[in-house]
Amino acid sequence: MKQIPTIPTPTTTSHKLAMLMQSHEAWKESPDVLTLITRRLSTTLSLETQMGILAEELGSVVPIDCMTYRHKIAARDFVYATGMGGPHRCEYRLNLEGQFYGMLTFSRRKKFSEKELEGIELMLGAAICPIRNACRFIAVEQAALTDPLTGIPNKRAMDDSMNRTTSLGDRHGQNHSLILCDLDYFKTINDQHGHVIGDHVLQLAAQEIQKAIRNSDEVYRFGGEEFAILLPHTNETEARGVADRIRDFVSTIQVNCGETTIGVTISCGIAMRAKDESADQWLTRADDALYQAKAEGRNCTRIFATISQSSQKPENA
Ligand code: GH3
Ligand code: MG
Ligand code: MG
Repeated sequence: MKQIPTIPTPTTTSHKLAMLMQSHEAWKESPDVLTLITRRLSTTLSLETQMGILAEELGSVVPIDCMTYRHKIAARDFVYATGMGGPHRCEYRLNLEGQFYGMLTFSRRKKFSEKELEGIELMLGAAICPIRNACRFIAVEQAALTDPLTGIPNKRAMDDSMNRTTSLGDRHGQNHSLILCDLDYFKTINDQHGHVIGDHVLQLAAQEIQKAIRNSDEVYRFGGEEFAILLPHTNETEARGVADRIRDFVSTIQVNCGETTIGVTISCGIAMRAKDESADQWLTRADDALYQAKAEGRNCTRIFATISQSSQKPENA
């Protein structure tokens, strides 16, 4: 027999709408712990905030002295810890659909009862989906700020960092220097040996630059064969020491290509941020100094002296 499709009548939809309003009210006001934790966790994609909510809601059902969460997301360690531990611990590996989303540890002075462990598991069952979403969000955010070839932060990350630095710099009056580096005659390497070798040289250059800088300095892949290093608490003279070390490290790169061995050098331009200078102005001065280094023979460092101290021309270095 042929089935006639049913079209919802206005009474059906208005009835459903009324029920939706009613259940939403009940859901909002629900004292049920599972509803509460699900609702609160779903309001945020911040893993840190989620961990705070989890510790609070779980602690309201099962008293805990300490909660620790550890996970490696996009090669970075994420650690959250609250409270002081006790000798009794229970540990959970958070897994969903075959994927690992971190390790949670609860500890306290008093032993956990079977019922309490069951309660913790019920709460974690409600928390796992929002935690998965927050972990994925961090991974996506991280990928958007990372250069896939070299694994170092990209231009977008650099823009964020320079904007932060310029807004904080005036408040704290710190010295901040910027080094722009550009591999010399890199096009020739590509032309003579191909892009695969060119890519390999870029990866090695990124590694050497990372070795040459301090932990507090941050390196970015600024463009094709250009890198930028932001150096907090660093004046031009100190930045020149770092730039020269970068040049030394990069000059040790050797890639064996059968009959020939490829080497590469790098030129550096430095600008220390002047008071009230915008990120763009600061970058332009570092770029001018780099241009000067290229014009004056490459494999050297040039400094664009700070506006207040100079006639706004790069200095020979
Ligand atoms: P200079 O000393 O003046 O800097 O000369 P150069 O040859 O290094 O500079 P130029 O701007 O002429 O060429 C840069 C080259 O970098 C051209 C471009 O194909 C190459 N390049 C940019 N990004 C990549 C990349 O991701 N991989 C590879 N293999 N090459 C790249
Ligand atoms: Mg170049
Ligand atoms: Mg270039």
